[in-house]
Amino acid sequence: MTKTTFSELGLAVPLLRALSAENYSEPTPIQAQAIPLLLDGGDLMGLAQTGTGKTAAFALPILQRLAEAKKRPEARRPRALILAPTRELAIQIGDGFKAYGQNLKLRHAVIYGGVGQNPQVKALNRGVDILVATPGRLLDLMQQGHLLLDKATTLVLDEADRMLDMGFIHDVRKIVAKLPVKRQSLLFSATMPRDVAKLAAEILNDPRRVEVAPSATPVELIDQKVYFVEAARKRDLLEDLIREQSMFRVIVFTRTKHRANRVAKQLGQAGITAEAIHGNKSQNARQRALEAFRKSKVQVLVATDIAARGIDIDDVTHVVNFELPNEPESYVHRIGRTARAGASGAALSFCDPSERAYLRDIEKLIKMSVEVVEDHSQRTSRASEPSKEDMKKPARQQQRRPSKRRRRPPRGRQPKRAA
Ligand code: AMP
Repeated sequence: MTKTTFSELGLAVPLLRALSAENYSEPTPIQAQAIPLLLDGGDLMGLAQTGTGKTAAFALPILQRLAEAKKRPEARRPRALILAPTRELAIQIGDGFKAYGQNLKLRHAVIYGGVGQNPQVKALNRGVDILVATPGRLLDLMQQGHLLLDKATTLVLDEADRMLDMGFIHDVRKIVAKLPVKRQSLLFSATMPRDVAKLAAEILNDPRRVEVAPSATPVELIDQKVYFVEAARKRDLLEDLIREQSMFRVIVFTRTKHRANRVAKQLGQAGITAEAIHGNKSQNARQRALEAFRKSKVQVLVATDIAARGIDIDDVTHVVNFELPNEPESYVHRIGRTARAGASGAALSFCDPSERAYLRDIEKLIKMSVEVVEDHSQRTSRASEPSKEDMKKPARQQQRRPSKRRRRPPRGRQPKRAA
């Protein structure tokens, strides 16, 4: 079977020339699937994350359709709107439009918060075909009357899951309400939790769904284990394992932001340095936490799936799934944080009785069963809460607590492990 080419997808010559200038020799799977149906004007729901080539998948057809319509942009009235959750992503998308549109006479602007608004207002006044924006600043400028969306007949919501995780849902709804009803709408998301599916149903009209599989992670390289444990005992188990296995660069995953905060706080109280990162924290706070982790000033990073995406840190020795993800693909993403560049790594999962079904889904996806650690419940019976003295000691001195070992029941008389 011959591979599809960009020209077979129906792209015009100026775009094909730009793609050769960028040295793109063939379309990625999401591009091959999305471009023809977007050129046809349909709505799209794309399940894909950054790194799959999704920016070109939506930017190329948008550029082509805008160029074909041969309209000039009016001041303050963009013809296409791309919403992105963060400044970094907005800039990246703007760079994509610049590269792919290098042979077209279309104008684009990128607007985001945290910087002065005047240059952005000036750009809007000159008239832009394509506007890439973060929701907060966009609403702000709309409310000040610098911008109208009544001519924006194309809408892209990029990284929708992250957008919602960062609390932009109300802003997004307000923005979408100002767009013409007759429009082409696209939504991209790496995961499809219920709130994203609901938003997609509100915004998209009879969308085609395009999905690209997460990149294959060599899960075989990772030493995976599961601990069956009651939810209430996970905290103690985590503390014990961190100490007993001398884990020094650990990422702990939770399903919710609230839990991430709680776990980080509890670890801190037990004398283990930890920071939580999730969508409710400001970009700067997340950056600071990551730096501290990178420089080994913090031993444990507690993260939600979405906040952890894009984190590129080497030498993560352990990934701990404090809670199993309800989407099995997230498990693969999570454990892929360790065993980078051929290094070995360990992934430990805590599975309480309510999470058994998640574990089954994960094992089905990775096509292997995860080794169960037996006989660990004695560690979690907290006969020895850290004493006040312990709490004052630095984590290193606390790693072995002989008193606890003495109190452990002899083998053969251990309590049964939690189911
Ligand atoms: P994205 O997922 O849109 O962030 O793209 C990921 C990276 O892949 C970017 O650096 C793009 O420049 C690059 N890229 C996108 N499409 C192609 C392609 N067809 N061939 C080669 N590189 C590509």
